[in-house]
Amino acid sequence: MPTAYLDWNASSPVRPEAAEAMARALVAAGNPASVHNAGRAARALIEKAREQVAALVNAPADRVVFTSGGTEANALALSGFGADAAYSAIEHDAVRANLPEARVLPVTADGVLDLERADIAGMKLVAVMLANNETGVIQPVAEIAARAHAAGLRVHCDAVQAAGKILVDFAALDVDTLALSAHKIGGPMGVGALVVREKRAVTPLWLGGGQERGWRSGTPNLPGIVAFGAAAESARREIDAWSKLYAVRDHVIDMVESAAIGAIFYGRKAPRLPNTLSIGLPGVPAHTQVMALDLAGYAVSAGSACSSGKVGPSATLLAMGAGDNAAEAIRVSFGPATQAAQLEGFAAAYIEFARRRSSARAA
Ligand code: PLP
Repeated sequence: MPTAYLDWNASSPVRPEAAEAMARALVAAGNPASVHNAGRAARALIEKAREQVAALVNAPADRVVFTSGGTEANALALSGFGADAAYSAIEHDAVRANLPEARVLPVTADGVLDLERADIAGMKLVAVMLANNETGVIQPVAEIAARAHAAGLRVHCDAVQAAGKILVDFAALDVDTLALSAHKIGGPMGVGALVVREKRAVTPLWLGGGQERGWRSGTPNLPGIVAFGAAAESARREIDAWSKLYAVRDHVIDMVESAAIGAIFYGRKAPRLPNTLSIGLPGVPAHTQVMALDLAGYAVSAGSACSSGKVGPSATLLAMGAGDNAAEAIRVSFGPATQAAQLEGFAAAYIEFARRRSSARAA
């Protein structure tokens, strides 16, 4: 049996349309900055992709700045804010690590930004993600944006995990900057975008030839951007398919809960993405769970593997008050191509693993 890939939030399978568009763009000659015919053709490909990405999030095309991924998009939005910024306690490292001196805003036990306790007074920027990568919990971005704007703050939203899975509307969210990543929507790794509301709103991370209207110098990654555009276009057309996943997700929860193995579902009471489950098994380290499931043919992830692959407690679950259990949760994430049988197989394997562990401990 081939391994069931249940780690879409880490990276989603590349869509055939994106791979084909990328292969074609890879062999096209021409630097998009050149004035000759080949250059103009390359530029037209980038501008088409800009429109496709903008359409996915209901933004004007001329506000999309292509970057090397979600991490750079976040870093660009936050550049220069330092201690004048506040962010929710569940932000991805791509936000946290760029704001080491910032104020951290608390979340509820269900992993939702706690609007009542979110003190943004005296800040210049607030960053709140749209959907959390580990729990899938959706954040009250429009609410915090309204409050922040009334107080004169800039608002940044990391929509990397939400885009393509639920409707993301840049205009309705009313944020100043919004980060996207191609490989979370069926595009290639290493390309992303920052959507920027104002004309002079971000501080470039570096300087150079002034591409992307000066905000992101460097010859753009043409094949990656073209593939990102193709992925965005099919993600936009396919958005309804994701809403069918709520029922599948809830079926997995029912299966695991009725087996009474003591599993915890994080963010259970909050609105969440249709494709993400954060499941804790108290007493069993996350990496042990991940390895056992891998052997059983299910690729899932530990809440928070850093680049070295080492698993520590999840900062998201710690912020939600999980305490020692924060290092004992796995993330299961899937997509429309995932078969219901694969998820049922996962649930059965997880239950069996948990029972084996508890009888081994009892013996
Ligand atoms: N933001 C969130 C919420 C993410 O989940 C990720 C990737 O895991 C990133 C940002 C970083 O995106 P990229 O991998 O394109 O740098």
